[in-house]
Amino acid sequence: MKKENNLSNPNKKKSVTAVKGKGCPYMKKCGGCQYIDIPYEKQLEQKQAEMKKLLGKYGKVEPIIGMKDPYRYRHKVHAVFGYEKGGAVSGIYEEKSHRIVKIDRCMIEHEKADEIILSVRNLLKSFKIRTYDEKTDMGLLKHVVVRVSKETGQIMVILVLRSPILPSKNNFAKALVKLHPEISTIVINVNEKRTTMVLGKRDIVLYGKGYIEDSLCGVRFRLSPQSFYQINPVQTEILYGKAMEMAKLTGKETVVDAYCGIGTIALVAAQKAKRVVGVELNSEAVKDARENAKRNQASNASFVCQDAGKWMVDMASRGETADVVFMDPPRSGSDEAFLSSVCKLSPSRIVYISCGPDTLARDLGYLTRHGYRVEKLQPVDMFPMTSHCEVVAGLCKVKK
Ligand code: SAH
Repeated sequence: MKKENNLSNPNKKKSVTAVKGKGCPYMKKCGGCQYIDIPYEKQLEQKQAEMKKLLGKYGKVEPIIGMKDPYRYRHKVHAVFGYEKGGAVSGIYEEKSHRIVKIDRCMIEHEKADEIILSVRNLLKSFKIRTYDEKTDMGLLKHVVVRVSKETGQIMVILVLRSPILPSKNNFAKALVKLHPEISTIVINVNEKRTTMVLGKRDIVLYGKGYIEDSLCGVRFRLSPQSFYQINPVQTEILYGKAMEMAKLTGKETVVDAYCGIGTIALVAAQKAKRVVGVELNSEAVKDARENAKRNQASNASFVCQDAGKWMVDMASRGETADVVFMDPPRSGSDEAFLSSVCKLSPSRIVYISCGPDTLARDLGYLTRHGYRVEKLQPVDMFPMTSHCEVVAGLCKVKK
C-alpha cells in the first residue's frame, strides 16, 4: 500500500525503475508473488536470463516485453472463503497449505474486483450465509471469482457454493448490485465435491446474462464462467500481436488453432486467413467460440470440441493439411500424439504460445528433431511480480 502512495507521488519519476515491490503486507504468508520484493526491472532481467538458459539453444531469445505499470493487472480475481474464529474470512490459501491468508486488497488484482469481493464478505452476516469449512465439509460459500472486462467494463461475479440453494438469493443479488451497479452478471456455480478445483460443473444464472463481453485486437468476445480467458488484457494484445507477426498470414492459408479456448487466437487469425479451425476440449468454451465467430461475422472460422491430440491424429490420417498451426496448450504442454500429428500435417509454420517454458523447451526439442526450426522466441511478461513467464515461439519447416 505504501508503495502505491510512492507511485502516485508527483515528485517521483513514474518509471519502472522507481517501482519496487516492497509494501505488500501479505508477502510473507501469501507466496503468490514470488518476485514482489525485487524491483520490476530486475524481475524482467531475471526472467530474461531464465528464458535464455531454458530456450537459448533453440535460437536468440528476444528481449522480454514488460509492463509500463506492472500492478493491478489481473482482471480475473479469485478469493477463497472460509471460517475462522467465528467469522467469515476471504483471501488466498497460504503457500503449500489450506490456511487462508485474509486479503482485502492485493497489489496485482483489479481494484474493483477486490472491492466486490469485500462487499460479498460484508453482506454474508445479514443474509445469514455461512462460509464453507473445509475441515467439517459444512457451510455454503466456497469461493468468489470476479472477472472484469477492460474494454467494455462489464463485470461477472461467480459465487461458488457447496449446494445450489442460496437463501434469499434475489435479495442478495440486489444488495450486491446496489453496492456495485457496474456488475453485469452474477452466476452461482455449484461445486459439491471436496476438491481443489475451484469451479464445479453446474452454473445457475442469478442476475444478468450469465456471460460478459470483452474485446481484444479489435475482435469482440463473449466469455462464460467456465471458459479460459487470459487474465492480463494489456499484455494479451501484445502476445497475440507477436503471434500474428510470426504466423505471416497472407489471406490464403488454412489455419489450425489448437487449445483455442473461446476462439481468441482463431478469430484474430481469421481476419487474415482463408480458413481457420479451432479445437478445444471444454464444451462451454467451444459454445462461446462459435458464438464469437457469429458475432464477428467470421464465416471462415469453425470450432471442434475434442481432445486436440486426438483430433490432430484424425486430421493427419485423413490426409488433410494445414499451412499454419497455432498451439496454446495448458501449462503441462502438449503431448507426443499431438506433436507427431502436427509434423504429419506438415504446416509451413507453427506458432507455439506457452505459459510453461519448461514444457515449451521439451516440445521444441521434439519439433526441432522432426523437421522444424525455431525462427523467433519472444517472452512476454503476462504475470509481473510472479516467477511465471509467457513465451511465443515461431517455427518454420526446414526446407529439404
Ligand atoms: N488459446 C486460448 C486458450 C488457451 S488455454 C486463449 O488464449 O485464450 C488452454 C486451453 O486448452 C483451455 O481452454 C483448455 O480448456 C484447453 N485444453 C486443455 N487440454 C486440452 C486438450 N487435451 N485438447 C484440447 N483443448 C484442451
